[in-house]
Amino acid sequence: MAGRWGEEVWRLAGVLAVCVVFGLLTGHVRDFVILGLAGGIAWHLYNTQRFLRWLNAPDSLGDREAGGVWGEIYYRVSQLQRRNRKRKRKLGKMLAQFRASAEAMPDAAVALGNHWEILWFNDAASRLLGLRQLPDTGRSVLNLLRAPEFHAYVHAGNFDHSLEIGAPGGTGQKLAVRIIPHAGNQRLLLAQDVTERYRLERIRKDFVANASHELRTPLTVIGGFVEHMRHEGTECATRWARPLALMEQQTARMQRIIEDLLLLSGLESGQGGVRTEEVDVGGLIDDLVEEATAAAGPDAPEITADARSEARVLGDAQHLRSAFSNLVMNAVQHTPADGRIEIRWRADSEGGLFEVQDTGEGIPAEHLPRLTERFYRVDVARSRRRGGTGLGLAIVKHVLQKHDARLDIESVVGVGSTFRCAFPPSRLVVADNEDDGRDPAD
Ligand code: ADP
Repeated sequence: MAGRWGEEVWRLAGVLAVCVVFGLLTGHVRDFVILGLAGGIAWHLYNTQRFLRWLNAPDSLGDREAGGVWGEIYYRVSQLQRRNRKRKRKLGKMLAQFRASAEAMPDAAVALGNHWEILWFNDAASRLLGLRQLPDTGRSVLNLLRAPEFHAYVHAGNFDHSLEIGAPGGTGQKLAVRIIPHAGNQRLLLAQDVTERYRLERIRKDFVANASHELRTPLTVIGGFVEHMRHEGTECATRWARPLALMEQQTARMQRIIEDLLLLSGLESGQGGVRTEEVDVGGLIDDLVEEATAAAGPDAPEITADARSEARVLGDAQHLRSAFSNLVMNAVQHTPADGRIEIRWRADSEGGLFEVQDTGEGIPAEHLPRLTERFYRVDVARSRRRGGTGLGLAIVKHVLQKHDARLDIESVVGVGSTFRCAFPPSRLVVADNEDDGRDPAD
């Protein structure tokens, strides 16, 4: 370009020099210079007009044959245009490939705009969500997926997890729906058919619930006979004292496991939903302290209660009692007699917090993420010896989930553990004389 530009400058200088020579010869230097400049401007105007015409119809190749800097401009612009055409073809091909793979996906994919309107969807979305190309494109997905859980999910705006809903149209299918926000306010909705997984899960849950039910009665009978034989004062009771004591102990353990499994099944199946009584957590803590002190006997660590709020929790009193009692009894079992256990309850505008803190042995960090799994124990043999079922924390987690609450566990080996149940404000009933439950001393 620099060469052509220099050429152009020299051309103009040449024309002006000729004009000056003619001017000198005729005595009209100024007029000839103006004539030369006007000629130059006219030439550039003419080329500008040709260039604009060519831009409108770039295929008229003849127009490109221009001299000087204009030839270079035509060359550069047509190169750019060629590159753009190539890029466009490549992007078009990529888009076609992307669409083809999105169409081949077994999961539904729906691209949504700023106002949840449907921009595009694949074949699986037509099949699973019942979307139809013409009438539904441009409509809000909220008008098409009407499940209340889906609307609550969208309004909560927390898309870290997927949501399971029944497929629209009453087909009986179960879908795991997930929203992925991207590019500002746009979203991608993905839906996966999880009917089969859901059915297998249902079978598993039903099996556990039925097996537990079936085992309950025979175990009660066996337990009754063993107890009877132990206290009969017969030769059998004296002769078989140890085996009978062990049988009684193991029967009681099995009964506890079955009761816990039935409680878990009930929580999982959501039978009857969550009852919404106003649960007095302060009163519950007093009962728990009494119960724990009695259960621990002479080796009881110091157990104190610190209920700083009178706020009540909206929920199922029996389930909450069972969850809190599990946490307190765990603390008692893992804290030595010279240790301390503190049970706290506080509430403020951000929610309620029930805490059980102990100065017991603590839990190694690698076990913490798995503690709420069924039958997961740090030390299996020890848990069994103490009559543990390994289901306590799984029950706590499920009860809290039913109450929209969360379980956080903090623990340091040799220092102690804190189990925290965090309830959202929507689950609290705050007393009239209690603004936000905050202790003035805080
Ligand atoms: P378990 O019937 O064994 O108590 P849980 O589900 O209640 O079953 O608890 C699971 C495991 O978590 C326990 O076996 C124990 O290893 C550990 N654990 C629970 N609470 C505490 C605690 N306060 N201190 C130390 N370890 C604990």
